[in-house]
Amino acid sequence: MHDLFDLTGKRALITGGARGIGYLLASGLGRYGASVIVTATTTANAERAAEQLRAEGLDALGVCFDITDGAEVSRAIEKLEQCQGPIDILINNAGIQRRHPLLSFPEADWDEIINVNQKAVFLVSQQVAKRMVTRRRGKIINIGSMQSELARPNITPYAAAKGAVKMLTRGMCAELAPYNIQVNGIAPGYFKTEMTTSLAQDDAFNTWLFQRTPAGRWGDPQELIGAAVFLASPAADFVNGHLLFVDGGMAAVV
Ligand code: NDP
Repeated sequence: MHDLFDLTGKRALITGGARGIGYLLASGLGRYGASVIVTATTTANAERAAEQLRAEGLDALGVCFDITDGAEVSRAIEKLEQCQGPIDILINNAGIQRRHPLLSFPEADWDEIINVNQKAVFLVSQQVAKRMVTRRRGKIINIGSMQSELARPNITPYAAAKGAVKMLTRGMCAELAPYNIQVNGIAPGYFKTEMTTSLAQDDAFNTWLFQRTPAGRWGDPQELIGAAVFLASPAADFVNGHLLFVDGGMAAVV
């Protein structure tokens, strides 16, 4: 039964895999046998993460390209496939957060959020999926959020982008499932990373979170690894277009 989750011989590309959730997912997939390629906003960040992954005994490479620029994504994926080999698993993880009230939300921040959290998922998936289609196999995992379903004040553009990630996942499922490509999403609840530092330091937020989450606590980013390994593995060969909530039950209750 262990073979169901075996990723030996698979190559995974994880955007924003240099730290936080992306790094842990890269490390988790690596421990199940995959070679991993992580991207970051700078070459130094990407290479530092790859070095750290190699220190864990994993086969890892760090690369930097602008995931929001179609031409650059196209060149980068072509080069990666030529030099490294086929990308079997793609995790669209890179994401940013900006918090402002809706009525004063800066246009530049809206653009940045939509470009990184939404447009990049489309651009990177398009280039990787094109090649998966010719091979008739592949796994794509999009990192959504609790905000793929539920809104909160001050993060409307983030919720708009993460809602779009849910529908991108379903649209990609509709067009790619016939080619034996499984496209699914993971919707994390609240996990302590750099993105949520300001929330974790806010007593009122913690009180709200502990009451609102049935499990009564923050998630540990390590707890997302199982979902990613599952969706990347043969165990999920007939799982298509699903958004898997890993949220301590938050999305299930009011
Ligand atoms: P972090 O802020 O800890 O890490 C974000 C990662 O994304 C970094 O590696 C960063 O690269 C990368 N990144 C940001 N912008 C870009 C860009 N333009 N191009 C390439 N990479 C980029 O965030 P988390 O680990 O918390 O979040 C990861 C994903 O999980 C995001 O999509 C987020 O929305 C989602 N999520 C997180 C939750 C949480 O509670 N933390 C809850 C729900 C969803 P660099 O290191 O170079 O800065």
